[in-house]
Amino acid sequence: MPERYFLCNGSVVAYKDLHLYPSLHILGHLVSVSDEGRSVTALALWREAAPTTEVPPLHPQVKVDLVGDARHIECELCHVRSQRWEIGLAGFLVLMGNFYRRVEQLEKHHGGKETS
Ligand SMILES: [Zn+2]
Repeated sequence: MPERYFLCNGSVVAYKDLHLYPSLHILGHLVSVSDEGRSVTALALWREAAPTTEVPPLHPQVKVDLVGDARHIECELCHVRSQRWEIGLAGFLVLMGNFYRRVEQLEKHHGGKETS
């Protein structure tokens, strides 16, 4: 069972604290995903939002794992849009690593001495 949940007001709460937010809905949970050896926290968005007043699904269907920032995730139950999901530092470092690798590849392709 997931330990931390993402609610439709944008807050992240532990399973044991879900009952403190009876008017809100669960949009997803936090997962640890591995990106090229580095472990980063991602927001696993569920296919269907669930009320915090019910026992959350053991194996929720996930539609997307968000690693980077996301804004205005809509809750289909109350149509409130969450403030934002913000990337953690580890996720940021992974994205920057990917970015620099891509730049290096581009430079290899297009840079260097033109021989022809
Ligand atoms: Zn909601």
